[in-house]
Formats: sequence, structure tokens, C-alpha cells
Amino acid sequence: VNETEFAGRRRSVAEELLEKKIDGLLVTARINVRYLSGFTGSSAALLITQDGATLLTDPRYEIQAAHETSCRVRVAKGPLIELTARILSRRGLKRVGFERNRISYAEYAMLTDKLPGSVRLVPVNGLVEARRMIKSHAEAEALRCAASANSQAFDRATAKLRAGMAESDLAAEIDYEMRRAGAEGPAFETIVASGGRSALPHARPTANPILNDRLLLVDMGANRNGYASDMTRMLFPGKPGTKTKRLYKAVLDAQLAAIAAVRDGARSDRVDAAARRVLRSAGLDRRFVHSTGHGLGLEIHEPPRLGRREKTVLRAGMAITIEPGVYLEDFGGIRIEDTVLVTPTGCEILTPTSKHLLSI
Ligand code: ZN
Ligand code: ZN
Repeated sequence: VNETEFAGRRRSVAEELLEKKIDGLLVTARINVRYLSGFTGSSAALLITQDGATLLTDPRYEIQAAHETSCRVRVAKGPLIELTARILSRRGLKRVGFERNRISYAEYAMLTDKLPGSVRLVPVNGLVEARRMIKSHAEAEALRCAASANSQAFDRATAKLRAGMAESDLAAEIDYEMRRAGAEGPAFETIVASGGRSALPHARPTANPILNDRLLLVDMGANRNGYASDMTRMLFPGKPGTKTKRLYKAVLDAQLAAIAAVRDGARSDRVDAAARRVLRSAGLDRRFVHSTGHGLGLEIHEPPRLGRREKTVLRAGMAITIEPGVYLEDFGGIRIEDTVLVTPTGCEILTPTSKHLLSI
């Protein structure tokens, strides 16, 4: 993502502010600051007005900010919010938008305390997030790279799988191989769950050994250039029995049906319904305890959601996961997840890993 693109994003925000009759927007979500300015530091706020953008950070990031962004940079000696309040009052802005679900109570209280009565704070919700849903070409390419690092690490790590290896050992190999494949690190805590633990959709790896003749679930994501990928694959140390094969086929058919339903103009709940319909005909819909997928990009979970009651219409350029699963207590769980990019006529599957039940 280059400077022209960052500037374009800020311009588009400024235009919306004009429509909403807001004089300035205070962006406090780090990830939104990054999206609009390119700045990746951990201490940041961004003020967008009609005459440009000002990035606020602290002295630790002075050099980095000058390298990463073309926005005006102001370095705060004290709390960022204090400097923010000073700038807002000095500029004579009247209506200032703030990200209502991205500011702490303490920050909000300090802001209202320091601002003169002439400044009105206007809560704003999801203004930047709505823009982040549609990925540009550069972002789509970053997602492809993240998915490819992810799959490369999966191949290398699972090749090292040995009898008696602990779940946490395999998780460590995966994280190590992700970095070697060019990732900054995992996009979330890697899940490696063997046997009955695979029935816990968000299991954490334990020191227990990976069991023979039981399901093994691996859910992993790579962060690359700030963009996240997300993939779940099933392995089977041994020879899968009839029940395992039947369950696996049902989940795979559900995943393929949901993928087939994805295209520009499709409503999220319809994609979810496509997966659920397949599982219902296999008598497994009640074992599918979560939604079919979620958006991803700079964050591992971002809008849109693909669930039963989600009405968001999918648009070309959205990046989402498709991840139906079924979970049977004691027996185990099966989930198959790809990262896909919505296109005008369908979707591009970014995850290159094969979806066969990997018997090892
Ligand atoms: Zn996942
Ligand atoms: Zn996911």
C-alpha cells in the first residue's frame, strides 16, 4: 500500500465528514490510524479535518512516524489526549467526531475535561471500518501473501509431526515456520487440538500428546505486512473410520456449498444458509455452533460477519473466511476454513492448501 492510497483513504473520510457536517474526526483505533496513515506504532491518534491530517504520537515513535507517514506529525510530551485537546481547541473546530467504541472511558473523560465548551464531541461508529471491508488491489495482494506464508508453514510444520508429539510442540513448529515463511508472526494464537479437544472450537494447545486414530484440528493464521490470513485443516494420525469420513464429507460439502454461494451481491445470511442446509440434510446442523465466517484484513476478525442474521450484502473486494464446523463432545470436532476474496462472479480462494482429510 503506497502513500497515494493512504491519501485517497483520508480524502474519502474527509468527504464523508463534510456530508455529516463534522469538522474533524479523531481516530483513536490504532488499526484505523494505520489504515489511514501507514503509521504502525503502538501510540497513535489521527485527526482528520478538511485541511489535512495530523498524526499524534509520543517521542519513542518520532523517527518511525517521519518514515512511515506523510501526515503532519505532532509529538506529545504527555498524554496524547491532552495534546489532542489542545490542537482541537486551537483550531476552533466546533463538531468533532470520535470513534465511540474505540476510546476508553478515561480518555473520553480527559477529552471532555480539557476541551472548551465550544467544541462538541459527536460519536461516530464504524466509519473507517466500513471502508476497510473492501480491499484494494494492494491489500488483496497482501492477503494472498499472508495466505501463502500460512500454507507453506502448515506443510513444513506438519511434515515434522511425530508419534507422541505434544499439541503445543506442533503449535510452536507452526509459529516458527510462519516466521520463516516471511510472516511477522501468527495472526492469532495457533490452535492445535487433538481428539476430544477438537470439539472445543477455540481450544488452546496443551502439553498433551497428539493422539493416534483421533481427529487433529489445526487452525492458524499468518500476519504478513499487517494483513491476516486464517485457515483450518484436519489431520488424522492413523486410518479414519466410517464415522469420521462421513462427518468430514458433510463438513467439506457444507464448506464447498458456502463457497459456491459467495459472489458480489450475495447476502451474508444466504452464504451461511448454504452451509447450514448441507449440514441439516446430514442431521448435523445442531452441531454447527458458530457462524460460517468473518471478514479479515488488518484485523483477524472484522466486518462483515457471515451468520444466520447477517444482512450485509457481499461486495467484490471483501475478504472473508468460510469455516463451517461440527462438534461432537468426546468424539471431536471438524472444521474446514479458507480465506477467500469476493469477486464479481464468485470468489478467489486465497488458501492454497488441499482440503483432503490428511491421513498421516
Ligand atoms: Zn481460523
Ligand atoms: Zn476464522
